[in-house]
Amino acid sequence: MATIKIALIGLGKIARDEHIPALAANEDFELIAAASPHNKLNGLPNFTDLPALLAGVPEVGAVAICTTPQVRFDIARYALQYGLHVLLEKPPGMSVSEVIALADLAKQKGVALFASWHSRHACGVEPARAWLSARRIKSIAVSWKEDVRVWHPGQTWIWQPGGLGVFDPGINALSILTRIIPGPLALLNADLSFPENCATPIAARLELREQSGAPVQVDLDFLQTGPQTWNIGIETDAEVLELSLGGKVLSIDGRGVPTSSVGEYAGLYAHFAELVKNRRIDVDTAPLQLVADAFLCGRRAAVDPFVE
Ligand code: NAP
Repeated sequence: MATIKIALIGLGKIARDEHIPALAANEDFELIAAASPHNKLNGLPNFTDLPALLAGVPEVGAVAICTTPQVRFDIARYALQYGLHVLLEKPPGMSVSEVIALADLAKQKGVALFASWHSRHACGVEPARAWLSARRIKSIAVSWKEDVRVWHPGQTWIWQPGGLGVFDPGINALSILTRIIPGPLALLNADLSFPENCATPIAARLELREQSGAPVQVDLDFLQTGPQTWNIGIETDAEVLELSLGGKVLSIDGRGVPTSSVGEYAGLYAHFAELVKNRRIDVDTAPLQLVADAFLCGRRAAVDPFVE
């Protein structure tokens, strides 16, 4: 396959920490331009938006959209209309309906669309899925607790509508769960804590059911100091599975399971290359749907204002 000439849209933390190194290490891609309102990449043509980029570098064949979620839909729509292959950072949109509309457009245009969930490429996730496929699940407990002041300093968009608040990291847990559990998850209850000065929650507790009836409890906290936890524990009829460090470490009954050491974004771009080659669509809205359901039926409590 010819090299995919790709541009990055949105040069924030994740573009610099993960997308640029992953693209540099993947021979299927050549990063040839970037568009971001303020930030720039050394050594490449830079533009402030996608239309200007396409006017200046019309040979671009694909874009990775790494912006804040609130602006993703219009950029993705423009790119798909133009006939580009598109990778969306997570969450794929502000709303479920936006994402469905993008998938429909990609289908019409015959281009690849990847609504990526980077945590699904953590090295413990596929072995966990394979192990669980032969077991009966008895209960699931998710604890996803991190300190927003450490991991997201200055990211005010997280607290605005569409920014997801604690679901910005929490949706990573849901993306893993919806990948490794055979069958759908149903949301029954949600308790959401909204700081008085924010449009999105800072903590959440969800109660779900797995298809066979097993209870699923999800605890999300954005004010965790001390040890940070990104853990999923699953009790089965056989043994207990634990995924920790965001899906990177897998253990069964406390015994570590060897996994590959391929990084999340290396796996993510390897999959995008396959999608582009075959002009396929990979859009799974299940994690975003669960968050939408929590907003739809959750009980809301006001808590102290958030101060950075
Ligand atoms: P960030 O550091 O705040 O960066 C967001 C970037 O979006 C900004 O640099 C901004 O560019 C750009 N942007 C805003 N509006 C734009 C527009 N209209 N066109 C082009 N670019 C625009 O946020 P982030 O941490 O990188 O997160 C971005 C996305 O990645 C979020 O959806 C997040 O959930 C996801 N993600 C983040 C992490 C993480 O560890 N931070 C991990 C995985 C996934 P300018 O600065 O040039 O204005």
